[in-house]
Amino acid sequence: MNRYLPGSLKKTVMQKANGCCEYCLQSNEFSFIPHQIDHIISIKHGGQTTPDNLAYACFSCNNAKGSDIGTILLPDKTFIRLFNPREDVWQDHFEMENGVIYAKSDIGKATVKVLNLNDINRIIERVT
Ligand SMILES: [Zn+2]
Repeated sequence: MNRYLPGSLKKTVMQKANGCCEYCLQSNEFSFIPHQIDHIISIKHGGQTTPDNLAYACFSCNNAKGSDIGTILLPDKTFIRLFNPREDVWQDHFEMENGVIYAKSDIGKATVKVLNLNDINRIIERVT
């Protein structure tokens, strides 16, 4: 298990994301708290500190996600994994209108739920 994150790797992840959170698309430029590097599959679940498992995430997304990798969606009680910015295409799972992020798939629904993407304060932040 390697938790060390070299500055060069942080920079690579940030540049690949064009300075925007890869979950909610919020730009780091307009964030009060700087964006962070997220382990897509948390170390707790066997994720590695490698470029294919790192994403650029705003504080709100990273904080809400924690070490989660998925959730149970009702009514089926089916486990659904979260959106993976390295393997999935954002537009396949979400769309945004007036600051609200709408899920287009179960993966989108799981991610909107766990990352609390449509908290009213976050919607307001996106449209202002
Ligand atoms: Zn975010």
